[in-house]
Amino acid sequence: MPIAIFDMDGVLYRGANVMPYAREALERLRRAGWEIFFATNNSTATRDDYVRQLEQLGLGGDREHIVTSAYATAHYLERRDSRAKDVFVVGADGLRAEIRGVGIPVRDAHDLPGIAPPPEAAADGVDPGAMRRYLVSLKLPPPPDTVVVGLDLHLTYAKLAEAQRSILAGAHFVCSNRDRAYPVEGRLLPGAGTIVAAIEVATGARAICIGKPEPFLFEEAIRRAGRPKGEPVVVVGDSTDYDMVAAHRVGATGVLITTGLTEGRAVEHATGDAVPDRVVHSLAELFGLPEFAGT
Ligand SMILES: [Mg+2]
Repeated sequence: MPIAIFDMDGVLYRGANVMPYAREALERLRRAGWEIFFATNNSTATRDDYVRQLEQLGLGGDREHIVTSAYATAHYLERRDSRAKDVFVVGADGLRAEIRGVGIPVRDAHDLPGIAPPPEAAADGVDPGAMRRYLVSLKLPPPPDTVVVGLDLHLTYAKLAEAQRSILAGAHFVCSNRDRAYPVEGRLLPGAGTIVAAIEVATGARAICIGKPEPFLFEEAIRRAGRPKGEPVVVVGDSTDYDMVAAHRVGATGVLITTGLTEGRAVEHATGDAVPDRVVHSLAELFGLPEFAGT
């Protein structure tokens, strides 16, 4: 069975808005016998959350066909030679849930040292020294063996401080992805890579990255499909630096769709693995490609 792996954000939807022809395109491919996978660098939600979201958007898909960077990160931690036993997450509960789902203990968000600063330290301009005095007064737990970083919409200075302390004490440093931006309805917000970069600067350490452009997400999809020999594998994504590079690392055909995060000149500026094999401007145009001929 041929395999089509779709990036989600910017390809099938943007925020809560379904892209034109998304439902029809998936339906048409399924009818023609394609196995459809959904792959996202977003680490904030579990696969079950995505099943619900895809259902709400009318796009179909089940747990076995969804690969997220949170899920892939959990499996990476599980398969490491020295398996993680005590994980501190700078990220969302979805990431914690996927790591716990493989049986690895994760510290609760509310156990963060520095989670409850006094009022004079909690706001700008009240007492500039109060947060520093609060942080240095904390009784700190033993550092975790692993720090995992993903998108955290509630990032605080205390979280950065705890990640820095843990990594400097020798914790393994892993990130779900390095996305620069997080595209939502009508604008861009900072992506997980922004937070990863802050912690890399704070520690001088380099995180091991699981999400695209690394190949792990797409490898997992192909593994789930049973590694069919000789069947085409096509990746449809909106980013040259993430989707196209990861596609080529697993030997797939990379189709770039210019509806999402794709910057205007991304195609001209792409080099090496980032160069797409095909470029389309809408999901309907997919069916004009030779890869999808006859569907
Ligand atoms: Mg995308």
